Amino acid sequence: MENICENLKKIKQELEILNPNVKLMAVSKNFSYLAVKKAYECSQKIFGENRVQEAIEKIELAKADNLDIQWHLIGHLQLNKAKKAVSYFDYIDSVDSIELAEKLDKYAQAQNKIINIMLEINIANDPKKFGFSKNEVSDAAKRIVNFENLKLYGLMCIGPQAQESEIRKAFRDMKSIFEDLKKSICPTLSELSMGMSDDFRIAIQEGSTIIRIGRGIFGERT
Ligand SMILES: *Cc1c(COP(=O)(O)O)cnc(C)c1O
Repeated sequence: MENICENLKKIKQELEILNPNVKLMAVSKNFSYLAVKKAYECSQKIFGENRVQEAIEKIELAKADNLDIQWHLIGHLQLNKAKKAVSYFDYIDSVDSIELAEKLDKYAQAQNKIINIMLEINIANDPKKFGFSKNEVSDAAKRIVNFENLKLYGLMCIGPQAQESEIRKAFRDMKSIFEDLKKSICPTLSELSMGMSDDFRIAIQEGSTIIRIGRGIFGERT
């Protein structure tokens, strides 16, 4: 197995220099529970998973081992898996439609839970990506802040695969939307989730508060 501890240490050292307030999410998708446990033993507490079923297996094992992990769902969630997602996650960072938010609110109410959510934004209008377009975000947020069992706490995006100037522009646009929403609609907005293994340095320069690293911690996915 890849030297998870060593990788984590290096990233944390770099964060210390770039911006010590930025949080680190370890994206363990496609990696085993053993890899999660290794990272946890090196003080990693925030983990991201992109598929509900795969996540549940690890969450159950982590529960049995009494690991104090904050699990985030970061992948597209189908409406028919919303109920399951609500039972297992306190943080759903990939809310990409009003319909999904409605379902999550309904199930959260039934389960007597508050779910922390981020809206995912398709910041560069990539037809292959999920998320609200820039123009839709504000109206969506206006409706979603009224859902009693959801707490809108952040915005999330996946940066475009493009040259640096385009990536930077996308992150800068995110920051601007984030500040506008915070001012006008949702003062409790606190996290801007952007930056992955290849672009987290740019994301931090442009105002990310939480980066999501998979390969940089666990190695290449096969
Ligand atoms: C896989 C994934 C990541 C991590 O990507 P790496 O390139 O492995 O760091 C971050 N965010 C989302 C939404 C992902 O699906």
